[in-house]
Amino acid sequence: MLSFESFSGNTEVIKSLKAALYHRFPQTVLITGSQGSGKWSLANTIAAGLLCTGSGQKPCGVCQSCRKIQHNSHPDLEYIDYKEQEIPVAVARELRQQIYLLPNDCDRRVVLIRHAHKLNIAAQNALLKVLEEPPEYAFFILTSEQPGSILETILSRCSKYNLAPVSKQDKIDNTHMNHVRGFLKALSNANEYQMLINAMAFEKLSKPDLRLVLGLIQTALRDSIFFANGLSASILPEIGQTELANRVSVEKIIKLYDFIGILRERVQGNAAPVIVCAGLCATAYEICFV
Ligand SMILES: [Zn+2]
Repeated sequence: MLSFESFSGNTEVIKSLKAALYHRFPQTVLITGSQGSGKWSLANTIAAGLLCTGSGQKPCGVCQSCRKIQHNSHPDLEYIDYKEQEIPVAVARELRQQIYLLPNDCDRRVVLIRHAHKLNIAAQNALLKVLEEPPEYAFFILTSEQPGSILETILSRCSKYNLAPVSKQDKIDNTHMNHVRGFLKALSNANEYQMLINAMAFEKLSKPDLRLVLGLIQTALRDSIFFANGLSASILPEIGQTELANRVSVEKIIKLYDFIGILRERVQGNAAPVIVCAGLCATAYEICFV
Protein backbone atom coordinates (compact mmCIF):
# COMPACT_ATOMS: atom_id res chain seq x y z
CA MET A 1 0.00 0.00 0.00
CA LEU A 2 2.98 2.33 0.23
CA SER A 3 3.22 3.76 -3.22
CA PHE A 4 4.93 6.54 -5.11
CA GLU A 5 1.53 7.21 -6.67
CA SER A 6 0.31 8.84 -3.48
CA PHE A 7 2.81 11.68 -3.85
CA SER A 8 0.83 13.91 -6.12
CA GLY A 9 3.40 16.71 -6.12
CA ASN A 10 7.18 16.97 -6.41
CA THR A 11 6.99 15.14 -9.70
CA GLU A 12 10.64 15.46 -10.68
CA VAL A 13 12.04 14.33 -7.32
CA ILE A 14 9.68 11.36 -7.18
CA LYS A 15 10.42 10.42 -10.77
CA SER A 16 14.18 10.36 -10.27
CA LEU A 17 13.96 8.40 -7.01
CA LYS A 18 11.61 5.89 -8.58
CA ALA A 19 13.89 5.44 -11.58
CA ALA A 20 16.92 5.00 -9.32
CA LEU A 21 15.23 2.01 -7.63
CA TYR A 22 15.66 0.02 -10.81
CA HIS A 23 19.28 1.02 -11.31
CA ARG A 24 21.84 2.00 -8.75
CA PHE A 25 20.16 3.54 -5.77
CA PRO A 26 22.36 5.89 -3.74
CA GLN A 27 23.27 4.27 -0.42
CA THR A 28 23.03 7.43 1.65
CA VAL A 29 20.10 9.71 0.97
CA LEU A 30 18.91 12.85 2.74
CA ILE A 31 15.36 14.03 2.17
CA THR A 32 14.73 17.59 3.24
CA GLY A 33 11.63 19.76 3.28
CA SER A 34 9.40 21.54 5.75
CA GLN A 35 7.24 19.72 8.29
CA GLY A 36 4.32 17.99 6.62
CA SER A 37 5.93 17.85 3.18
CA GLY A 38 5.85 14.05 3.17
CA LYS A 39 9.53 13.30 3.82
CA TRP A 40 8.99 10.42 6.23
CA SER A 41 6.33 8.87 4.11
CA LEU A 42 8.61 9.09 1.09
CA ALA A 43 11.49 7.57 3.08
CA ASN A 44 9.22 4.65 4.03
CA THR A 45 8.13 4.18 0.44
CA ILE A 46 11.75 4.14 -0.76
CA ALA A 47 12.63 1.60 1.93
CA ALA A 48 9.75 -0.60 0.79
CA GLY A 49 10.93 -0.21 -2.80
CA LEU A 50 14.48 -1.20 -1.89
CA LEU A 51 13.36 -4.28 0.02
CA CYS A 52 10.51 -5.32 -2.31
CA THR A 53 11.03 -8.72 -3.89
CA GLY A 54 8.16 -8.40 -6.36
CA SER A 55 8.95 -8.45 -10.05
CA GLY A 56 6.95 -5.47 -11.31
CA GLN A 57 6.45 -2.04 -9.88
CA LYS A 58 8.34 -1.39 -6.65
CA PRO A 59 7.10 -1.40 -3.94
CA CYS A 60 4.56 -3.96 -5.19
CA GLY A 61 2.57 -4.04 -1.94
CA VAL A 62 1.92 -7.77 -2.15
CA CYS A 63 5.24 -9.62 -1.85
CA GLN A 64 6.24 -11.03 1.52
CA SER A 65 8.67 -8.21 2.10
CA CYS A 66 6.08 -5.49 1.36
CA ARG A 67 3.61 -7.20 3.66
CA LYS A 68 6.14 -7.41 6.47
CA ILE A 69 6.75 -3.70 6.11
CA GLN A 70 3.01 -3.01 6.27
CA HIS A 71 2.88 -5.00 9.48
CA ASN A 72 5.91 -3.26 10.84
CA SER A 73 7.87 -6.49 11.14
CA HIS A 74 10.58 -6.46 8.49
CA PRO A 75 13.84 -7.61 10.09
CA ASP A 76 15.99 -5.70 7.59
CA LEU A 77 14.32 -2.37 8.08
CA GLU A 78 15.37 -0.28 11.03
CA TYR A 79 13.79 2.95 12.24
CA ILE A 80 15.54 5.63 14.24
CA ASP A 81 12.61 7.86 15.12
CA TYR A 82 13.24 9.86 18.28
CA LYS A 83 10.63 11.89 20.09
CA GLU A 84 13.28 13.51 22.31
CA GLN A 85 15.24 16.59 21.37
CA GLU A 86 18.44 14.71 20.74
CA ILE A 87 19.55 11.37 19.35
CA PRO A 88 22.41 10.29 21.63
CA VAL A 89 25.73 8.90 20.49
CA ALA A 90 24.90 5.47 21.98
CA VAL A 91 22.20 5.01 19.34
CA ALA A 92 24.62 5.87 16.57
CA ARG A 93 27.25 3.48 17.96
CA GLU A 94 24.78 0.64 18.18
CA LEU A 95 23.60 1.29 14.67
CA ARG A 96 27.18 1.35 13.47
CA GLN A 97 27.69 -2.16 14.86
CA GLN A 98 24.39 -3.58 13.71
CA ILE A 99 24.82 -2.45 10.17
CA TYR A 100 27.63 -4.96 9.74
CA LEU A 101 25.29 -7.85 10.43
CA LEU A 102 24.22 -9.41 7.17
CA PRO A 103 20.59 -8.96 6.06
CA ASN A 104 18.08 -11.56 7.28
CA ASP A 105 15.41 -11.84 4.63
CA CYS A 106 16.63 -10.02 1.61
CA ASP A 107 19.98 -9.01 0.28
CA ARG A 108 19.59 -5.50 1.66
CA ARG A 109 19.27 -3.65 4.92
CA VAL A 110 17.66 -0.24 5.18
CA VAL A 111 17.97 2.24 8.01
CA LEU A 112 15.58 5.19 8.21
CA ILE A 113 16.68 8.08 10.39
CA ARG A 114 13.96 10.62 11.06
CA HIS A 115 14.82 14.21 12.09
CA ALA A 116 18.48 13.48 11.34
CA HIS A 117 19.41 16.93 12.67
CA LYS A 118 18.58 15.54 16.13
CA LEU A 119 21.69 13.37 15.97
CA ASN A 120 24.02 15.22 18.33
CA ILE A 121 27.50 16.09 17.15
CA ALA A 122 29.07 12.99 18.67
CA ALA A 123 26.38 10.82 17.09
CA GLN A 124 26.92 12.41 13.71
CA ASN A 125 30.64 11.86 13.99
CA ALA A 126 30.09 8.25 14.99
CA LEU A 127 28.12 7.67 11.79
CA LEU A 128 30.45 9.52 9.50
CA LYS A 129 32.47 6.59 8.31
CA VAL A 130 29.58 4.20 7.85
CA LEU A 131 27.64 6.80 5.89
CA GLU A 132 30.63 7.42 3.71
CA GLU A 133 31.32 3.79 2.99
CA PRO A 134 28.33 1.67 3.94
CA PRO A 135 28.54 -2.11 3.45
CA GLU A 136 27.29 -2.82 -0.05
CA TYR A 137 23.94 -4.17 1.17
CA ALA A 138 23.18 -1.16 3.40
CA PHE A 139 21.07 1.87 2.64
CA PHE A 140 20.57 4.91 4.85
CA ILE A 141 17.67 7.25 4.33
CA LEU A 142 17.75 10.36 6.47
CA THR A 143 15.01 12.93 6.69
CA SER A 144 15.32 16.40 8.16
CA GLU A 145 13.49 19.68 8.26
CA GLN A 146 16.62 21.42 9.57
CA PRO A 147 19.51 20.28 7.39
CA GLY A 148 21.39 23.40 8.54
CA SER A 149 22.00 21.59 11.84
CA ILE A 150 23.68 18.64 10.15
CA LEU A 151 27.45 18.59 9.86
CA GLU A 152 28.78 19.52 6.46
CA THR A 153 30.82 16.31 6.50
CA ILE A 154 27.57 14.30 6.70
CA LEU A 155 25.73 16.44 4.16
CA SER A 156 28.48 15.99 1.62
CA ARG A 157 28.07 12.21 1.82
CA CYS A 158 24.36 12.24 1.08
CA SER A 159 22.43 12.35 -2.16
CA LYS A 160 20.00 15.15 -1.38
CA TYR A 161 16.37 15.48 -2.37
CA ASN A 162 14.19 18.39 -1.34
CA LEU A 163 10.42 18.23 -1.14
CA ALA A 164 8.36 21.35 -1.74
CA PRO A 165 5.65 22.01 0.86
CA VAL A 166 2.35 20.29 0.14
CA SER A 167 0.57 23.62 -0.28
CA LYS A 168 2.92 24.58 -3.08
CA GLN A 169 2.89 21.15 -4.66
CA ASP A 170 -0.70 21.05 -5.64
CA LYS A 171 -2.50 24.21 -4.69
CA ILE A 172 -4.80 22.05 -2.62
CA ASP A 173 -7.64 24.39 -1.92
CA ASN A 174 -9.88 24.29 1.07
CA THR A 175 -12.88 23.20 -0.94
CA HIS A 176 -11.09 19.98 -1.89
CA MET A 177 -10.01 19.42 1.66
CA ASN A 178 -13.56 20.03 2.93
CA HIS A 179 -14.99 17.49 0.53
CA VAL A 180 -12.39 14.93 1.56
CA ARG A 181 -13.16 15.69 5.21
CA GLY A 182 -16.88 15.27 4.54
CA PHE A 183 -16.29 12.02 2.70
CA LEU A 184 -14.10 10.59 5.47
CA LYS A 185 -16.63 11.58 8.11
CA ALA A 186 -19.45 9.93 6.21
CA LEU A 187 -17.27 6.86 5.73
CA SER A 188 -16.41 6.68 9.44
CA ASN A 189 -20.12 6.86 10.22
CA ALA A 190 -20.99 4.25 7.58
CA ASN A 191 -23.35 6.85 6.14
CA GLU A 192 -23.63 5.89 2.49
CA TYR A 193 -25.98 8.75 1.69
CA GLN A 194 -23.54 11.41 2.95
CA MET A 195 -20.69 9.64 1.13
CA LEU A 196 -22.69 10.01 -2.05
CA ILE A 197 -23.40 13.71 -1.44
CA ASN A 198 -19.69 14.39 -1.01
CA ALA A 199 -18.70 12.26 -3.97
CA MET A 200 -21.20 14.11 -6.16
CA ALA A 201 -19.12 17.23 -5.63
CA PHE A 202 -16.09 15.32 -6.93
CA GLU A 203 -17.93 14.60 -10.19
CA LYS A 204 -17.75 18.25 -11.18
CA LEU A 205 -13.97 18.38 -10.88
CA SER A 206 -11.59 18.42 -13.80
CA LYS A 207 -9.71 15.16 -14.26
CA PRO A 208 -6.44 16.44 -12.78
CA ASP A 209 -8.38 17.78 -9.78
CA LEU A 210 -10.27 14.52 -9.37
CA ARG A 211 -6.97 12.64 -9.37
CA LEU A 212 -5.71 15.09 -6.77
CA VAL A 213 -8.75 14.58 -4.53
CA LEU A 214 -8.45 10.79 -4.83
CA GLY A 215 -4.77 11.18 -3.97
CA LEU A 216 -5.76 13.23 -0.91
CA ILE A 217 -8.14 10.51 0.21
CA GLN A 218 -5.30 8.00 -0.20
CA THR A 219 -2.99 10.19 1.85
CA ALA A 220 -5.64 10.45 4.57
CA LEU A 221 -6.06 6.66 4.54
CA ARG A 222 -2.32 6.25 4.83
CA ASP A 223 -2.41 8.55 7.87
CA SER A 224 -5.17 6.36 9.35
CA ILE A 225 -3.07 3.23 8.82
CA PHE A 226 -0.16 4.90 10.60
CA PHE A 227 -2.44 5.91 13.50
CA ALA A 228 -3.84 2.42 13.76
CA ASN A 229 -0.29 1.09 14.01
CA GLY A 230 0.48 3.51 16.82
CA LEU A 231 2.68 5.71 14.64
CA SER A 232 2.00 9.40 14.46
CA ALA A 233 3.29 10.60 11.14
CA SER A 234 0.36 12.31 9.55
CA ILE A 235 0.92 14.16 6.33
CA LEU A 236 -2.42 15.96 6.21
CA PRO A 237 -3.97 18.11 8.90
CA GLU A 238 -6.59 16.28 10.96
CA ILE A 239 -9.58 15.77 8.69
CA GLY A 240 -10.96 12.60 10.19
CA GLN A 241 -8.06 10.14 9.81
CA THR A 242 -8.04 9.30 13.52
CA GLU A 243 -11.78 8.73 13.61
CA LEU A 244 -11.54 6.41 10.63
CA ALA A 245 -8.68 4.48 12.21
CA ASN A 246 -10.92 3.91 15.24
CA ARG A 247 -13.92 2.76 13.23
CA VAL A 248 -12.48 0.66 10.40
CA SER A 249 -9.85 -2.08 10.60
CA VAL A 250 -6.39 -1.58 9.11
CA GLU A 251 -6.90 -4.44 6.64
CA LYS A 252 -10.00 -2.75 5.26
CA ILE A 253 -8.33 0.65 5.07
CA ILE A 254 -5.43 -0.89 3.15
CA LYS A 255 -7.89 -2.52 0.76
CA LEU A 256 -9.64 0.79 0.25
CA TYR A 257 -6.31 2.55 -0.30
CA ASP A 258 -5.47 0.10 -3.07
CA PHE A 259 -8.92 0.43 -4.62
CA ILE A 260 -8.63 4.23 -4.77
CA GLY A 261 -5.26 3.77 -6.46
CA ILE A 262 -7.08 1.81 -9.16
CA LEU A 263 -9.67 4.60 -9.46
CA ARG A 264 -6.90 7.15 -9.97
CA GLU A 265 -5.54 5.05 -12.81
CA ARG A 266 -9.01 4.87 -14.31
CA VAL A 267 -9.32 8.66 -14.24
CA GLN A 268 -5.96 8.83 -15.98
CA GLY A 269 -7.22 6.31 -18.51
CA ASN A 270 -10.21 8.52 -19.33
CA ALA A 271 -13.00 6.99 -17.24
CA ALA A 272 -15.96 9.34 -16.78
CA PRO A 273 -15.82 11.12 -13.37
CA VAL A 274 -19.48 10.28 -12.72
CA ILE A 275 -18.74 6.56 -12.98
CA VAL A 276 -15.56 6.83 -10.94
CA CYS A 277 -17.42 8.66 -8.16
CA ALA A 278 -20.29 6.19 -8.10
CA GLY A 279 -17.72 3.39 -7.90
CA LEU A 280 -15.93 5.20 -5.11
CA CYS A 281 -19.04 5.28 -2.90
CA ALA A 282 -20.38 1.84 -3.59
CA THR A 283 -17.07 0.01 -3.34
CA ALA A 284 -15.73 2.03 -0.40
CA TYR A 285 -18.88 1.20 1.54
CA GLU A 286 -18.67 -2.44 0.54
CA ILE A 287 -14.99 -2.77 1.47
CA CYS A 288 -15.48 -1.17 4.87
CA PHE A 289 -18.88 -2.38 6.01
CA VAL A 290 -20.23 -5.33 4.07
ZN1 LIG B 1 6.89 -5.99 -2.87
